[in-house]
Amino acid sequence: MALAIAERWFDFELTSDGITRIWEPHTIRLMQCNIWHVRGRDRDLLIDTGLGVASLRSAAMHLFDKPVSAVATHAHIDHVGSLHEFEHRIIHRAEAAEIAVDSGPFSLQRAHHDGEFIASIERAGYQVPASFVTALPSPAFNLIEFIRPAAAATRIVEEGDILDLGDRRFEVLHLPGHSPGSIGLWEASSATLFSGDAIYDGPLLDELPGSDIAVYMKTMQRLQALPVRVVHAGHDPSFDGQRLRVLARQYLARHGG
Ligand SMILES: [Zn+2]
Ligand SMILES: [Zn+2]
Repeated sequence: MALAIAERWFDFELTSDGITRIWEPHTIRLMQCNIWHVRGRDRDLLIDTGLGVASLRSAAMHLFDKPVSAVATHAHIDHVGSLHEFEHRIIHRAEAAEIAVDSGPFSLQRAHHDGEFIASIERAGYQVPASFVTALPSPAFNLIEFIRPAAAATRIVEEGDILDLGDRRFEVLHLPGHSPGSIGLWEASSATLFSGDAIYDGPLLDELPGSDIAVYMKTMQRLQALPVRVVHAGHDPSFDGQRLRVLARQYLARHGG
């Protein structure tokens, strides 16, 4: 079935605290990353950049009135697609090499992916339909040979590093397991965590290339002990600290922890 051309690729929703959630409504849940824009006094943060099949920078231009630091919570394609559109690019050391080169051709069609890989994602709880998008971002878009351009980091971060916006400070938490260089950004003053794919209120993926269940369990133990008020995650709706502890406990229980 031919896909229609989307009128608008990104949707926007202002939450509290100068934080805007941006997402791509025409992608399937598996690939639908939350992009977070955080307004600061001296500079803004952009946490993840979506799939990159349409220009995030031009779609979100109305939000950018000062320098922007674009942070990748990790290098998966649905999180770093538009990273190349921003001048200041931040990622954890463990995944810096991956974004420094382009992705190579990536098909947005199920049929071109390894069957066992798709099966593992379905076992985790996702439905994977024939196409990863439900509309085309532009008339000539190539669904089979999409390439995420190279976007070498301009700053490499590690556990404990600070991203300073002038009036807001975010501490880098290294939260590996889903991927080796997954990071969270923790604002202690508001007890807010941007968690990337380390934890979200949906099917967590720990059998991807680069995933490590034993390491993921340590990350879940760490998350359980964090005095969180709100989590803005890499996928699915935001949640509170109580829900975070339930999700972490469920993960640990599932793996005998
Ligand atoms: Zn991921
Ligand atoms: Zn993701």
